[in-house]
Amino acid sequence: MPITHRTGLLGIIGYPIGHSLSPAMQNAALEATDLDMVYIAMEVPPRRLSPALGAMRALKFRGFNVTIPHKERIIPYLDRLTPEARLIGAVNTVLNRSGRWIGHNTDGRGFSSALSEAAGFSVRERRVFILGAGGAARAVAFRSALEGAAEVTVANRTAARAVSLIRDLAAGRFGLRAVPLGGPPRGWREAVRRADLVVQATSLGMRPDDPLPLPRDYIRAGQVVCDLVTSPPDTPFLKGARGAGAITVNGIGMLVHQGAISFKIWTDREAPLDLMKAAVVRVSGARSARIR
Ligand code: NAP
Repeated sequence: MPITHRTGLLGIIGYPIGHSLSPAMQNAALEATDLDMVYIAMEVPPRRLSPALGAMRALKFRGFNVTIPHKERIIPYLDRLTPEARLIGAVNTVLNRSGRWIGHNTDGRGFSSALSEAAGFSVRERRVFILGAGGAARAVAFRSALEGAAEVTVANRTAARAVSLIRDLAAGRFGLRAVPLGGPPRGWREAVRRADLVVQATSLGMRPDDPLPLPRDYIRAGQVVCDLVTSPPDTPFLKGARGAGAITVNGIGMLVHQGAISFKIWTDREAPLDLMKAAVVRVSGARSARIR
């Protein structure tokens, strides 16, 4: 479909943004559904956030995704938040509804759909160990609480962030056991081993020289282990977990499912999940080949 002055604008803001797989994934979905819309990547450094958002309002963007470092900073610019985005304290999807900007967070739901699809796993009444306390970890922690997890442990290099996430979870009165752990991974062995689900939600594993986020022998057979890193899709941590007999799930499923939920929010149409996944695998595969 030709792009004209009538074409609806969607996109993603972040800094840096060159690594994002969302343009390939969302444009594949738009093309397949024959919608007159286009999705573009926009590099927005923090000091340019305010003018960039002003321009997007003026250009009547239909909606957009938000990624690092703007997921929390965007909140004051929005007219309303969904209850889940408010709980998490971060927004990854904005909908322009008749000029009012509504902030959603689709990461948690994307995570839980991906786990269900890849491993038939539900967190209900299960023990969840989350490594990391950033935006992705917060989305996973609150989604786990909303879906009835029995226990959520958050372990993070910076202890204060784990404590703060657990405090926010406890304030939600979900009736689960919530435990913060800080400091080096050495003391975390028991907590990892008692978990039914281990979620790697730090950025470790994206660079070839990164250390393993957890020692290999902490993982036990039968556990479900999910690494949210998408590039590379099969991280050294996941390979080690598979070697230990765990069921492993990579970050691609969450990326595709959160994107599919965003697509539905903007277009009111079901997203073509298989096509979106194929686009992500194609682009991330081509990039990994170039890096090697
Ligand atoms: P973030 O808010 O910047 O948080 C980063 C987390 O990683 C923090 O817990 C941080 O610990 C930890 N960390 C960073 N470097 C570390 C190191 N050298 N050693 C130990 N811990 C380290 O980032 P985010 O948005 O949560 O993203 C985290 C990861 O999830 C990224 O790889 C991102 O690509 C991925 N992600 C995937 C999806 C998906 O759809 N698959 C969606 C969102 C995010 P401190 O607090 O101590 O700094």
